[in-house]
Amino acid sequence: MKTPQKRVDKSLLRKAADIRALLFDVDGVMTDGKIIYTSSGDEVKEFNVRDGIIISSLKKSGFIVGIISGRESGAVTRRATELKLDFCHQGIEDKAWACGQIMKHHQLKEKEIAYIGDDINDLPVFALAGFKACPADACEEVLDIADMVTRAKGGRGVVREVADFLLAQKKKPKFEKRK
Ligand SMILES: [Mg+2]
Repeated sequence: MKTPQKRVDKSLLRKAADIRALLFDVDGVMTDGKIIYTSSGDEVKEFNVRDGIIISSLKKSGFIVGIISGRESGAVTRRATELKLDFCHQGIEDKAWACGQIMKHHQLKEKEIAYIGDDINDLPVFALAGFKACPADACEEVLDIADMVTRAKGGRGVVREVADFLLAQKKKPKFEKRK
C-alpha cells in the first residue's frame, strides 16, 4: 500500500493549489462505513467532529464543499445542514453524472475539483477529479489511483486531513522571492 508521506510530491502540491471545491462520499469517508438500523427504521451514523470544524474553515477560504452519496439517510441530511454544505446529493447511482451537474452549476473545471471516496462506486468521479483522495482503508482499486491516501481510516478525520492539506497549499505564495 502507498503511504501518505510517499505520495506528497511536487506534482501533488501543484494539483492541490488549483482546487476550488472539495466533494466527498459519506459511508467509509465521513463515517467508518458501518450502518446501524434502529427498530423504528432510522439509520444511525457516527460523524467525526474534527471533519466538521475544518469544513467551516474551508468555506471561509472560499471553497465549495459538498456531499455525493449513493445512499440516502436523514442523519446525513442533518449533518449537511449543520455543516452548511453547499450541496448534499444523496441516493445517487451515477456519481459522475452528479459531479458533472455540480461542475456546471458552480462553473468548475476538472482540475479545480478534489474528491474523497473509498469504494468502487467512486471510481467514475475520480476520473473527473483533478485531485483524488481516499482513506487508509479504502478498497484496493481506489488506493491504486489515489493522489493522496490519508493516514486516517474512514470516520477518523479523513476530510480533516485532506482539507488541512488543501488549505496549507492555498496559503502558500505562488512565487517565493529569491534571497
Ligand atoms: Mg463509500
